[in-house]
Amino acid sequence: MEAAKKAQEWAASGLSDGQRYADIAQRIKNELGGVTESRAICIARTETARARSNFTQARAQVVGSTHYVWHTVGDNAVRPRHRELDKTVHAWSDPPICDVGAGGTPIRSHPGCVFNCRCWPEPLFYEKDK
Ligand SMILES: [Zn+2]
Repeated sequence: MEAAKKAQEWAASGLSDGQRYADIAQRIKNELGGVTESRAICIARTETARARSNFTQARAQVVGSTHYVWHTVGDNAVRPRHRELDKTVHAWSDPPICDVGAGGTPIRSHPGCVFNCRCWPEPLFYEKDK
């Protein structure tokens, strides 16, 4: 889990540097060692998407967004459950069930926050009643 934690930090700081996940994957391979190429790419992609999603959420909530639209990247690798979630609206405070964990436990999460997910949230803004 050390590798994942490090990757999470790099992904978060990489956001502000405009680093792509490929750069972060390279860094994981170089600095952590014992990680295969495909594993490094997978970790980097997951952590980059998660960091971006968290960043979008934080920024949107600051300016009063309460909901978002789930978007997939729309290719064949999108998992079926996420295809169902495509273009649906969710509250930031109530992430939808987007995966099933060990033993059939439902996993609730925002787009981009589960393993290897490339989905992304589009924040919604409503005019407040005057
Ligand atoms: Zn997804």
